[in-house]
Amino acid sequence: MTRVAFLGLGAIGRPMAQRVAAAGFELTVWNRTAGRAQAFATHVKSRAAATPAAAVRGAGVVIACLPTSGDVASLLDGPDGVLAGIAPGALFVDCTSGDPAGSRRIAARLAERGVGFLDAPVSGGTSGAEKGTLTVMVGGDAAALERARPVLESFGRKIVHCGDVGAGDAVKAMNNAMLAIHVWSTGECLAALARMGVDPKVALDVINASSGRSNTSENLFPERVLTRAYPRTFRLALLDKDIGIAAQVAREEKVASPVLQLTAELFRLAHAELGEEADHVEAVRVIERLAGQEIA
Ligand code: NDP
Repeated sequence: MTRVAFLGLGAIGRPMAQRVAAAGFELTVWNRTAGRAQAFATHVKSRAAATPAAAVRGAGVVIACLPTSGDVASLLDGPDGVLAGIAPGALFVDCTSGDPAGSRRIAARLAERGVGFLDAPVSGGTSGAEKGTLTVMVGGDAAALERARPVLESFGRKIVHCGDVGAGDAVKAMNNAMLAIHVWSTGECLAALARMGVDPKVALDVINASSGRSNTSENLFPERVLTRAYPRTFRLALLDKDIGIAAQVAREEKVASPVLQLTAELFRLAHAELGEEADHVEAVRVIERLAGQEIA
């Protein structure tokens, strides 16, 4: 069976790697904070490597899941880097929600060593990773995707080839731009209704049986905003990064995109105000402050 290396055991990388091990692949993990990889390897059948080079040595498929394409690129070089250990013929699958230009640069560096590359960001959240029901959007060579598919199937239910390298990143960025727009627009609408005296539970009950509904109105607001629970599953900093990529793609493609550009600016502000550890749904706190109105 293919040997797999997994680089990056963050909020979503950790349950994804757990699924890879549970599917029976021989797994080596690496994480920047070494203690997290060691803790993982004590609970999950795998080996913790001390460096990226050691993790990828002998692996047929290498998966990365880091915050940005820049972070992935920073792992390539040096005596402990990926390029020092990876074998020609291996396949590097980047599940980071990256940026298309960054992925193309990484693919070119790996190609010089005879290593294939797929951008393969995921959607479905940490709970989808735990259940193995993620959507995986893939850019790159279709034959390479078929090689990676058995590994991707350990955490993904819907695996879609979107186009050339960078296409997976672009689809992911646009999906998350729509999530950001839903969070912001739902927040503003419910704040206005709350000011009028409409109970947000009643408003969501109506909206979720009507045409304004979304995953945000059906799940995120009832579970996180009305309860004020705000569990930290997907950092606001990462959604800010994603909508920034979406806005940049639209600008580069010369597509008029005032809503994308404005939403990118709003999430930049929310990120600056709430910091690195806030969850993405906590952007609602900023909406409430601007509105001078709490939703619940
Ligand atoms: P986290 O912030 O929880 O974890 C980030 C991981 O990357 C950690 O393992 C961290 O290591 C490591 N890391 C950060 N910077 C570097 C660096 N410069 N070099 C090496 N390692 C680094 O992120 P998530 O797991 O939530 O997200 C990972 C990717 O998946 C992101 O692109 C995100 O947008 C995407 N994503 C996340 C989802 C979610 O629900 N969380 C859903 C869908 C996509 P350390 O332990 O040392 O801090």
